[in-house]
Amino acid sequence: MKVSVSVSTLLGMSESVIVFDGDDTLWATEPLYEHALQQIAEYIDGQDIDGQAWIAAQRERDLENIKTFGLSRHRFPTSCIQAFIQVSTMAGRPISDNDKNLISTLAKQVFLTKASLLSGATEAVRRAAAAVPVVLLTAGDPWVQQRRIEDSGLGRYFTLICIVSKKSENEFCNVLAAMSAEADQSWSIGNSLPSDINPALRVGMNAAWVPANVWAYENREKRLASGRSVRVESIVDAVSTALSLMRPMSTVRRDT
Ligand SMILES: [Mg+2]
Repeated sequence: MKVSVSVSTLLGMSESVIVFDGDDTLWATEPLYEHALQQIAEYIDGQDIDGQAWIAAQRERDLENIKTFGLSRHRFPTSCIQAFIQVSTMAGRPISDNDKNLISTLAKQVFLTKASLLSGATEAVRRAAAAVPVVLLTAGDPWVQQRRIEDSGLGRYFTLICIVSKKSENEFCNVLAAMSAEADQSWSIGNSLPSDINPALRVGMNAAWVPANVWAYENREKRLASGRSVRVESIVDAVSTALSLMRPMSTVRRDT
């Protein structure tokens, strides 16, 4: 009798898991923020205020506002308006409700616009899910993240989806415990060194870093933590590398 055991079955029962990040790993959100900033800057330029000075003030405010707003969807529009009040006041220009409403509306488009999937994301997640259980661990505003997941069409591939307010060692440990997975047989894949890569390495996981444009908050750590990590060019390469470096099965197929 010929007995075939698929790789997915064996690995699924065992200790490996691949943990994916969402924003700017599977779908592109940073361009949505940059587009909103440029649109608002153009409007502000039209009001005889320096749009670039406004962008600089907005970036400063937005980073500062992490302390009070965290990753809430209310932070970015609030930072936009605060920066507008700042540059308008410096320019001695009156501030109207109309200005504030328009800026707020443009800023909120970031969360209402569908984020494009990054190249190869669907194929990469599908391939990973065919081999091992896969998890989505994404940090951000729950309402926004839920939308991103639904828009991506990738939800069906994940054994577990976790939307968290931040990603640290704790969140990775919780995922490993929930999946009964071993850290040294599991991989984290993401674009952010401080959120996706270093905390995973610090709990003994492996990590594949796919660098992408990030905002200042995601640049808060610049040094790679110690542990097994690879830097790759694409999500497809990240999955290929992770799968190729996982512990080989003792028996994948046997004939009796
Ligand atoms: Mg990310």
